[in-house]
Amino acid sequence: MSNPITIKGLMNYHAHIDKGGIVPPFVYRDAPASERAAWTREAKASFTVEDIKARASAIIENMIRYGTVYLRTHVDVDPIVGLKGMEAILELREIYKDRIAIDAVAFAQEGFDRFPESEGLLHEALRMGAHGIGGHTTMDQDGKQHITKIFEIAEAENAEFIEFHTDETGKEEHFLQPFLAEHTIQRGWQGRVTAIHCSSLANVSEAAAQLAAKLTAKADVKVTICPTAIATRSLTRVKMLLQEGVQIRLGSDNIGDFFNPFGSGNMLHYAQMLAYILRFYEPKEVETIMDALISQPVEGRLHTALSSYDFTYKYKASSIYELLTHAEAPERCREILTSPDLLARR
Ligand SMILES: [Zn+2]
Repeated sequence: MSNPITIKGLMNYHAHIDKGGIVPPFVYRDAPASERAAWTREAKASFTVEDIKARASAIIENMIRYGTVYLRTHVDVDPIVGLKGMEAILELREIYKDRIAIDAVAFAQEGFDRFPESEGLLHEALRMGAHGIGGHTTMDQDGKQHITKIFEIAEAENAEFIEFHTDETGKEEHFLQPFLAEHTIQRGWQGRVTAIHCSSLANVSEAAAQLAAKLTAKADVKVTICPTAIATRSLTRVKMLLQEGVQIRLGSDNIGDFFNPFGSGNMLHYAQMLAYILRFYEPKEVETIMDALISQPVEGRLHTALSSYDFTYKYKASSIYELLTHAEAPERCREILTSPDLLARR
């Protein structure tokens, strides 16, 4: 009989816990995305630091229960909510630091066209202690200008990394992924930029997609996939990106909001969803997904934080197929890693 799987924990590279857990009490109604975004802005206007902390910590507790040890969460920074979200998440980062490493990303969710004051606030959020800054390539009229501005703020404040919700409409005319990769190389940011979603890549021609995937790999731009995005748009060409050598990561995206009313915080659920949608069924493919969930950085600030944890997560499952099939909650324990093959390579 093979051993049950024991791991150091799972990685969640994308969430928005500052505005998570608002559905309920709000009731979800189907409506165009623009309307649901307007409801989110209304809700956001009434947020307090205490209320953000209460909702976000409930989500964090669930993530911990399901074995997550790293969470990268975008935090809205704009004149609607100000720096309340950042204040709350930075406090939680400190409170939970012995169980889960949280990276806060100062996020320009509303863009600069309608909310130019966001720029000053983003500078401030980075000075408060956010490690990364986040942009959104389809939020402003001129996506290239938006990208450039985010890079400028990042450089001025010495941000550690940059992330972009990339080409989220999925439309061909919004395809800025190649520009983002080129710009990353031009400014010397290789390895420190992430593109989230990359929806247009799914809808451009095979040849254009191939070129973009190569360029993304050349710029060492990482790509984060949130499988729940399938509800409203195409998932990107994950297999093509992998083939070209792009590093893929997984995120839960938001939980309990007007875009994702469900969500357990169990990363195995999201991995299973990705496996179904894009047919990651062959053993090697299943391993690739699990790699994205389990791989931890081998050096740097995050490596130091994660390697200080003196606990592991143990599952009843004895193979990764079983693990992905049942997406069970693990038991937190202090045993040494005994897992076979899959995890020995880490
Ligand atoms: Zn997002």
